Amino acid sequence: MTPIIQFEKVTKRFGDVLAVDAVSLTINEGEFFALLGPSGCGKTTLLRMLAGFEVPSEGRILIDGKDVTLVPPNRRPVNMVFQSYAVFPHLSVLKNIEYGLKMEGVGSAERRARAEEALALVQLNGLGDRMPDAMSGGQRQRVALARALVKRPRVLLLDEPLSALDAKLREELRFELSRLQDKVGITFVMVTHDQDEALALATRCAVMSKGSLMQVASPSDLYEFPATRLVADFIGSVNLFQGRVLADESDHAIINLPEVGKQAWLEHGVGSSDTLDIWLAVRPEKIELHKRSNGEGPPELEGTPAGYNVIEGVIADIAYLGSESVYEVKVALADGGERMMRVIRPNLTRWDQEDFTWDEPVWLGWHAEAAAVLLA
Ligand code: ATP
Repeated sequence: MTPIIQFEKVTKRFGDVLAVDAVSLTINEGEFFALLGPSGCGKTTLLRMLAGFEVPSEGRILIDGKDVTLVPPNRRPVNMVFQSYAVFPHLSVLKNIEYGLKMEGVGSAERRARAEEALALVQLNGLGDRMPDAMSGGQRQRVALARALVKRPRVLLLDEPLSALDAKLREELRFELSRLQDKVGITFVMVTHDQDEALALATRCAVMSKGSLMQVASPSDLYEFPATRLVADFIGSVNLFQGRVLADESDHAIINLPEVGKQAWLEHGVGSSDTLDIWLAVRPEKIELHKRSNGEGPPELEGTPAGYNVIEGVIADIAYLGSESVYEVKVALADGGERMMRVIRPNLTRWDQEDFTWDEPVWLGWHAEAAAVLLA
């Protein structure tokens, strides 16, 4: 892997506001990289510094090994696509796409050929003569993409590129954007606050909070092995328990969960020598529901090692979402209080054949390998 972008301890202050705090990050050639995080975490500022629209207060930014920290935007090998389709309303689609090349002094024949090629890339062949206001939001955003791609940048920067589109179109363009990146092979760096978008598109993501990087990893690693509570909570939904490590072996661990008065098995060791206090995280779709109404004891699933974890609860709410249903299950706590746990189950058969219902007593069960341990 060849590094193409390097942030070296980059800090950005706006007056008293520390927007980006000593961020060091390497992005490799050909990656689709997403900067993800809640509003105000500093992701847009990081992207704008890469584009050259903001100058870091401290630190350096390298592109292709060259220090570009103070290089103006138009002299960097990057191009940016903005959230609100930045196209000129008074120019036809082709003229919009050709505009940047014209500014660079590229001859008209080559301009036209490259613009046609870019139009084809974003699947707008034949629409070059249209005016932008005669196009849908999704089409205008493709024009904006073509405008950026036609200049053949080393790096394409995308600032919330799909957020102005409605849900269905967003999903469609998501697939297209991913195919497009594959095809052109350019490094994409995208800012988004939409975790689904980041997980679906990116080869690697950085989760930011308060100006710092929390975790940089592939989408599946962020989801399956979040480094912190904050990441676990931000990426998807999660059931969290405060826990204490009782036994920590190489192939399993036992965690005390005082809140629910239970011990939980983990399929792997925790491997933490400096703290015994941890958080146990279980994703909602990894929890199974079992009947409890007939007074049967906790389920011991066939072929399951001793490490199947079971808690009793009562279904408090069910949200039917078409492809899946979300269950809020009330669990009694050791101190007499109660809390909710969330379970997600795919609707594999017609929902009217669903076998769990409101107020039903259930066992919540999860396998020892289904939980993750978070140290902070
Ligand atoms: P959002 O998703 O809402 O755009 P973000 O994660 O992209 O948020 P930034 O826009 O990078 O966050 O902002 C980080 C912090 O820096 C915020 O507190 C913001 O108010 C502040 N900030 C950003 N730009 C400026 C500016 N030009 N002047 C002053 N403060 C700024």
